[in-house]
Amino acid sequence: MNRIIALVLFLCIAGYEASFADNKVKSSKIFVLCFHTFHSANKGQYNFSPSVFSEQIQTIKKLGYHFLSMQDFIANKFDYPLNVMITIDDGNRTIDDIYTSILKKFNVPVTFFIYPNIIGKMNYALNFKELDWYKNDGVYFGGHGFYHEFVNQKLYDISVQRFKDEIYKAKDVLEKKLSMPIITYAYPFGVYSPITIEHLKLAGYKYAFTIEWGYIETPVDPQKFYKLPRYLVTTTSWKSIYDVLKKHAGEMN
Ligand SMILES: [Zn+2]
Repeated sequence: MNRIIALVLFLCIAGYEASFADNKVKSSKIFVLCFHTFHSANKGQYNFSPSVFSEQIQTIKKLGYHFLSMQDFIANKFDYPLNVMITIDDGNRTIDDIYTSILKKFNVPVTFFIYPNIIGKMNYALNFKELDWYKNDGVYFGGHGFYHEFVNQKLYDISVQRFKDEIYKAKDVLEKKLSMPIITYAYPFGVYSPITIEHLKLAGYKYAFTIEWGYIETPVDPQKFYKLPRYLVTTTSWKSIYDVLKKHAGEMN
């Protein structure tokens, strides 16, 4: 009799676990967006004013997207079918104008892809002390070259040293200044060659982002670790990117 009770109990627990597993997200889509600057004034196609950026974030949220952190991406922690990952390239100081008032307000995690050559040197860029503050507040950091060159076969043929600086020196400097491992990379200008991927691997980077359109599907195919798609958001591309997000949100509902 006890055995029957035990068996029934076992089946109940097994059934519960199976139904729990069914409720888990089987596959997620991740759309990575790339932003640059947030001047209030019109500053060209890579710039969005804080109020427009705020609308974009709220629009994405309304479509039903979860804002995924790079930390969760790396940890393979995918709990939602539709995800957007926000990345900001270059380290412009107008990040200050949207960080607390928009990203923190709407609980949006963010990754900064930094090229150290301008950090603390150019008045339009943040300095390392400021980047360290962001790191301590939870911002994730990735490499983006050292001088922001075209990190391709052509650069390698011109100068192996210059090519290597964009990969190895960029990583060393960021790791020392921010006291964190740098394992993600965003190709400056989205440009890369097979030799770029070879050296990213040798340097210890685990993932690299392009600016080729598309979404990442989980489980992430290791063949695509160094060719991850990313949408470069510009004043002219935003409408089409919005349409893509809307289409996929529609498919889920
Ligand atoms: Zn850049």
